[in-house]
Amino acid sequence: MPMRVLRNGNPDVARPVVRFQCKNCDCLFEAERHEYSAVNDYRNGYYYRARCPCCGKDVTGGETVKKKQRREEKLTWKSFGSE
Ligand SMILES: [Zn+2]
Repeated sequence: MPMRVLRNGNPDVARPVVRFQCKNCDCLFEAERHEYSAVNDYRNGYYYRARCPCCGKDVTGGETVKKKQRREEKLTWKSFGSE
């Protein structure tokens, strides 16, 4: 018997686009949700990992594009307020 879904989830929310900066070659790239993995480490907490498309090294850290946009909006708001 199949599971009964009470509300459909949104995989895009669970795995958003993540922006990485490679510490090895300084490549800046965005990874779709099938291109990176989310790691939940008990020491380092929750972080993302992807392979750099330029040099092939593992890049950890990263930040969701949404989170970054929110921060930039806040900064813009702040700079408007000071003028
Ligand atoms: Zn790289």
